[in-house]
Amino acid sequence: MERGRKIILLCHCILNCNSKVEGLSTFKSMIKNLVDILHSEDVGVIQLPCPEMHVYGIKRWGHVKDQFDTPFFREQCRIILEPTVNQVKNYMDNGYDVLGVVGIDGSPSCGVNLTYRGNFGGEFSCIENYKECIDTLKMVNEEGVFIEELKSILNEKGLDIPFVALLEDDMVRSIEDIKNKLFK
Ligand code: SF4
Repeated sequence: MERGRKIILLCHCILNCNSKVEGLSTFKSMIKNLVDILHSEDVGVIQLPCPEMHVYGIKRWGHVKDQFDTPFFREQCRIILEPTVNQVKNYMDNGYDVLGVVGIDGSPSCGVNLTYRGNFGGEFSCIENYKECIDTLKMVNEEGVFIEELKSILNEKGLDIPFVALLEDDMVRSIEDIKNKLFK
């Protein structure tokens, strides 16, 4: 049977925007612009698990990387990633082309080029000045925790796969970037 033998890994919320922290998504279901391109390029999709849904569920607050950078969160990332990485290895060992991983820039978990740090934490009712707390929020050129763990597992298994990212505030440029880097 005919098949493209090309696969891409997408962070979970690209195909299911409902998993994002409530209030953040500007899409109703999925990022169709990217999905349409993948369909026209005959690329199959593996949807990565959402680590924040796994650990905290849909009622979670927005977090910063500092809050997810714990041994437990990292361990959970590894646990939920392992079955997918094993499938990826099997595809690659059998001649399939795994084009890359698409992350979500700005996410404390799934950022590839950008994530957020800040002095967040503690009991809300004890914080006298919320603005001071929010003012510590800063975007930094780092990966999120989930992407760090994914890269580390791929590296341990000797799998070399490029990483790119969508930035929701600059979707047109992000998609052009993905096309240039992954579909040359
Ligand atoms: S943790 Fe990752 S997959 Fe889940 S909502 Fe955030 S960016 Fe999307």
